[in-house]
Amino acid sequence: MTSAKTAAFSINSTNVFFHILTQCNLKCRHCYINPAQHGQNTLPLSTIQAWLEPFSENSNTKNLIFLGGEPTLHPDLPAAIRHARKLGFGSITVDTNGYLFHDILGKVDSGEVDTFSFSLDGATQQTNDRIRGEGSFDTCIAGIRKAVLKGFNTSLIYTVSRGNIAELELMAPLVKDLGVGRFFIQVIGLRGRSANRDSENSPEGILQVERRQWMDTIPKVAQVIAESGITVTYPKVFLNPDEKFECAGLVADNYFIFPNGRVYRCPLCEDFPIHSMIFKENRLVSTAKLNESDFFQLNIAEGCVMNKLIQPHNLIYDSAGEPEYKIACCLLKEEISGG
Ligand code: SF4
Ligand code: SF4
Repeated sequence: MTSAKTAAFSINSTNVFFHILTQCNLKCRHCYINPAQHGQNTLPLSTIQAWLEPFSENSNTKNLIFLGGEPTLHPDLPAAIRHARKLGFGSITVDTNGYLFHDILGKVDSGEVDTFSFSLDGATQQTNDRIRGEGSFDTCIAGIRKAVLKGFNTSLIYTVSRGNIAELELMAPLVKDLGVGRFFIQVIGLRGRSANRDSENSPEGILQVERRQWMDTIPKVAQVIAESGITVTYPKVFLNPDEKFECAGLVADNYFIFPNGRVYRCPLCEDFPIHSMIFKENRLVSTAKLNESDFFQLNIAEGCVMNKLIQPHNLIYDSAGEPEYKIACCLLKEEISGG
């Protein structure tokens, strides 16, 4: 038996997505890191520690996700993880492309890192490596096996685009065989590199999957994978006109920190200098208007304001000019618990 639910935004938890560097050994086609907006710094350990402090002070459940670039390229990641534990972060995840630099699996244990989350964008070497780079499939698979063998919880993130949606159903036997605990399906966002590539004139053509294909494929495949005992999460993306819309920027406590000090509340805003907060001399301060938080307040029939601004082709209008559906907050997820 599986059970499905929309994972409502939690008002009792704080989620900190901390990009401790932007450097990466790969050059994935859809990478959302944008050095022009996020800088090219590698934060020293002392800065990582200082920037974690403000989030440790509230009484919420605190979840921390270390990101990059590739966070395991940072030699002080183990020390940063231990410091976060001391500060009271309840769950700590490391998102990795699977290369697991600096022998990270040998330097931390499963009591220190709750989950290693791996990224794979194809069920076959050919498809994954076309998107993420030669050798990345084999390396990621080997990294997952090693992490599982060492007793770490693992999850897998699959970013769906037109280039790999056909292979999504092949992931069911693969995730089962790997012993991965959770499977996250992600929708390709038009940020960073993919923002420049999502056009009929680009060599790859349009990357984003159309609504019909998304609706026909994703819930069905998620269900199949969940039936093998793995919890599957995927973005809701589309809401019927009568479904309730909520902007996480208003109702949830999420922070997306970049190594140039910018702190966003919304991932769709990350390509623009509209961050609502910034670290100045290691103090977290609000930025002046206009910033993303001014957009969160706007109530439009199309749902997400940022989607309408940067991805308007996702919307369809009827003959009366009304949107046929709303676009959900990109952070709203459907979750099917494994049977
Ligand atoms: S592994 Fe992540 S950070 Fe590195 S290029 Fe790929 S998407 Fe970007
Ligand atoms: S994606 Fe849209 S709805 Fe979600 S936080 Fe950003 S602006 Fe708000």
